[in-house]
Amino acid sequence: MGNELLFYRLLIIIAGVLSLILSLFSYLKLKNAPGAKQYMFVTLLSSIFAFLYVFELSATSLKEIKFWLGMEYIVMPFIPAFTLLMCLEYIGIKLRQRYLFLLFALPLITVFMHHTNELHHLYYKEVGLRADAPFPIVSLQYGPFFYLHSFYLFLCLSTSIIILLLQLRKSIFRFRVQLITMVAGLFIPIVANSLYLNDLSLYGIDLGPVSMSISFIFHGVALFSLQMFNVLPIARERVFDNMLEGVIVLNQNGAIVDFNKAILRVMPVLGTFSIGKGIAMVLAGDKKLLELISRGEECEYECSEGAQVEHYQVRFSNVVNKKGAKLGTIVTFANITERIEMQQKLSELANYDGLTKVCNRRYFMDQSVEMLESILDKEENAFIIMFDIDHFKRINDSYGHEAGDIVLRRVANLAKARLRPQDLIGRYGGEEFIILLPATDLEVAVDLADVIRSAISESLTAIHDQYINVTASFGISPIQITPYNREEAFKQALRYADKALYAAKNNGRNNIQTHIDQLQIV
Ligand code: GH3
Ligand code: MG
Ligand code: MG
Repeated sequence: MGNELLFYRLLIIIAGVLSLILSLFSYLKLKNAPGAKQYMFVTLLSSIFAFLYVFELSATSLKEIKFWLGMEYIVMPFIPAFTLLMCLEYIGIKLRQRYLFLLFALPLITVFMHHTNELHHLYYKEVGLRADAPFPIVSLQYGPFFYLHSFYLFLCLSTSIIILLLQLRKSIFRFRVQLITMVAGLFIPIVANSLYLNDLSLYGIDLGPVSMSISFIFHGVALFSLQMFNVLPIARERVFDNMLEGVIVLNQNGAIVDFNKAILRVMPVLGTFSIGKGIAMVLAGDKKLLELISRGEECEYECSEGAQVEHYQVRFSNVVNKKGAKLGTIVTFANITERIEMQQKLSELANYDGLTKVCNRRYFMDQSVEMLESILDKEENAFIIMFDIDHFKRINDSYGHEAGDIVLRRVANLAKARLRPQDLIGRYGGEEFIILLPATDLEVAVDLADVIRSAISESLTAIHDQYINVTASFGISPIQITPYNREEAFKQALRYADKALYAAKNNGRNNIQTHIDQLQIV
């Protein structure tokens, strides 16, 4: 029987030494890692507790036993609190001071109640020696405060397990192993304590010190080999959440595994409740986005946030395991709005006239070629209107070049405002404009030219304290296009429109001439 006791003592000494080593290691190597400080405290307390328990087991009288029990009760009650704090800090939660105070209030009460037990017997109803043991070991009859402390211990450990499991749902891949190891470690003292409380341990030996050391080995394994307290998991969360790119992680079944804050701009419907749900279900209200994600091809995506349009570059990358099997997909949405807006600005500068904001001549010609293709396909009639401001030189001469610019801008705006969406307008020369009208009859073309002509002639432009009125002359020509002469037909139409415009100038200005009239005249 002496050997049995020796074996227990040895086991507890090993547990104590182990906890001490873990504590020293975390002190030396992991000082600043999240959760490591609490780990250092909890392993140190657990080590002290183990050594004190060895003394208790070595005691030869009840008095000595009570003394060592009292010593144990200075350190042991704080272990659950530090364990919970360790888990909280690991997942990035820092308790406020008042909650910290609450957390440590019960251990303090426990220490007090334990040390004053002789006065009230509320912690132990009775403390004696076990009659059935071959060596002196304490027999305790528990009072209400003992059960309160046991409840507190279970509460701290189970809360730790719950918060780690909740984090497990949110974490991806490699960090899950660490969390599971930690949860497994927390179960050991729970089981050991249940056995002890139900008097299932041999001779009522407290399994606490050994179970805690084993538990800390698990935490230690997670700590040393899997870098549990390394900054990595926390850093990952921080980087992930502070990324400018929106990221969503899907598993191979299309269930949402993780996402960061930035993705909420693209998918505002996401919330913590979305984790584990199928992307098809979560994005049921946004068919376009869902279709894009289902396709899984790199592309650009546009979404509007109020009046603002945001542009995204969407990329997909596979998450594979070591054997190369696909586990899921990471979808990233990089905001490229600035780049797109810059491109739009550059193309505007390159293609549009800076003064009047209509197409410049080159862009008008390029666009016309494309439009002619469709005109040809649909076998529609198309017309060219050319117009030129009358006696514009006089405006410049009388009011200055700046005034001339204002008039030019005004004339362009008047014309632009009267065109249909499908029509194209460009600045052909100094004060000469050109309009391409697809799907148009002669009558419509003439009417449209006349609407613009009268708008110009009726408009007054305020320059300083004067009002200037200008008129313009118009030439119209059909584009007689066939599959064999598309380029030539367009050039011909330009020449005819120019001729008609010249005729309008000769005809007293502020009027419209069509090439068809010219033909009739000739
Ligand atoms: P017509 O009725 O025969 O067309 O007479 P016009 O005076 O309009 O014709 P002309 O071709 O003799 O003069 C065109 C003038 O337009 C000359 C030029 O200085 C002016 N002009 C061309 N581009 C601009 C511009 O961007 N701003 C200003 N203010 N004037 C311009
Ligand atoms: Mg002119
Ligand atoms: Mg001119």
